[in-house]
Amino acid sequence: MSTILYWHRNDLRLHDNEALAYAASTGLKVLPVYLFDPVDYRRLDLGFPKIGMHRFRYLLDTLTDLQKSYEQRGGSILTKVSPPHLAVEQLISEYNVTQIVYQRELASEELAQESAVDEVCREHGVEVHKIWGRTLYHIDDLPFQQEKIPLTSKTFRVTLTKATQPRELIAIPDHISWAECEEKFALPEPAELGFLGADVNTSVQIRYEAGERAALARLDYYTFQTEQLTSYRWTRNRSLTMDYSSKLSPYLALGSLSPRMIYHEVKRYEAEIKRNISTWWLIFEVVWRDYFTFRHWRFGDKVFRLGGIKDRDREWNHDRQLYDRWCNNETGIPWVDAHMKELATTGFMSNRGRVNVSSFLARDYQVDWRWGAAWFEHHLLDYDVHSNWGNWNIQATEIYYTNPTHQSWKYDRKGEYVCYWFPELRSLPGMTCHLPWTYSDSELREHDIHNYRRPVEIYSKWSRAIGKLTRGDAK
Ligand SMILES: Cc1cc2nc3c(=O)[nH]c(=O)nc-3n(C[C@H](O)[C@H](O)[C@H](O)COP(=O)(O)OP(=O)(O)OC[C@H]3O[C@@H](n4cnc5c(N)ncnc54)[C@H](O)[C@@H]3O)c2cc1C
Repeated sequence: MSTILYWHRNDLRLHDNEALAYAASTGLKVLPVYLFDPVDYRRLDLGFPKIGMHRFRYLLDTLTDLQKSYEQRGGSILTKVSPPHLAVEQLISEYNVTQIVYQRELASEELAQESAVDEVCREHGVEVHKIWGRTLYHIDDLPFQQEKIPLTSKTFRVTLTKATQPRELIAIPDHISWAECEEKFALPEPAELGFLGADVNTSVQIRYEAGERAALARLDYYTFQTEQLTSYRWTRNRSLTMDYSSKLSPYLALGSLSPRMIYHEVKRYEAEIKRNISTWWLIFEVVWRDYFTFRHWRFGDKVFRLGGIKDRDREWNHDRQLYDRWCNNETGIPWVDAHMKELATTGFMSNRGRVNVSSFLARDYQVDWRWGAAWFEHHLLDYDVHSNWGNWNIQATEIYYTNPTHQSWKYDRKGEYVCYWFPELRSLPGMTCHLPWTYSDSELREHDIHNYRRPVEIYSKWSRAIGKLTRGDAK
């Protein structure tokens, strides 16, 4: 009997999975595969791999979890390190493949993978089925054409939510007939993807459990178990601890959680527990994710250009020293450095932190923002091409400036966050843990603070906020 090949991409789950449902419905033997494309792991001119160790390990853990789910149903996922079209070509003849199904993507590198796979399928007479599955609202339900996706998130959201609704969840198929796969489930070693010893030996702390099971457990924890969702509106701008926000983004990024699952669970929560501004706000944020996806669809590679989608003309520099200070948490501004240290250590950073550090790099240092986006791409467990490059684009070229000293006063008055990442700053009185540069070297030594970097510049526009922090103003 012939086989349908299910090429898994950012859809590493069984629940609400239209591609899997389609594969099962054909009655053909199903062969799930995951392909590690070496291009995704290439070393960038900036000197680090596009995908870093945090993301690589998180992906391996996610696949391990997916394999368990397949095994429970009698199946298995085949993994290979190969450009997708070459692997697909080989599998077509080995498994008598007559159909392939995969989740479509919209960014150019992913589209190039698809074109190459489609070409191979055409040559071999294999039918190709492309499924949409990455957003809350289905691409076919949008009330706009691609070239008319609204420029503002508000117009996008209001028009969209008036016109349509997210679709219902798709059930996991009861029965799947599996292709017999001789190769045992195996995951690649870092060296197979070009990681060097120095990349592997970083002090990676994975704090976020990976995979579909963990995703569904986290959703349940944040909603029905602890009811943290009820206060989300008021906690979402914090940076310290796990529960100030949902922490669902890493699951959404790899597709181990469906955005529709979040939507339907929040609706159930509203019916059974509480409906308030927080429940509304969480969905609002998931719609932001849709907005970035579809905005990218409209503007294509403009999202990656220096002037952004609006072709903004602004002066940028390529000062490697400034960039390295920023990457290595050595700007001398604790509020920026603490967030950058968290990113490098855990692969995660709060939204508040992302807004601040991106604005700092692009607006204060005026370093080419795409270097910052590439550093985020390397590290972020929740890296999503549309959300990352779209948010950077906005921070660098569209919205207002964010003052890090004012933000540290507003969001970390007691200095708990910066002192968590730099405990030595705890001995500075009041709110001045945010202002170590206001002390002389000898004063810092008296507080047992050694080697905390001095900022390259203290901008005059920060004066008012620095005054508030120095005085310890409550308002
Ligand atoms: C410069 C910059 C880069 C970013 N890069 C990414 C990225 O690569 N991947 C990513 O998922 N998010 C990115 N974000 C958006 C946001 O910071 C994260 O989605 C959020 O911090 C994830 O934490 P959470 O799941 O607890 O979010 P919550 O506050 O609990 O929000 C729930 C969900 O809504 C979505 N969401 C929330 N805020 C945004 C936003 N501003 N843009 C798009 N979606 C949003 C996410 O899917 C998130 O999981 C970026 C933001 C900035 C400013």
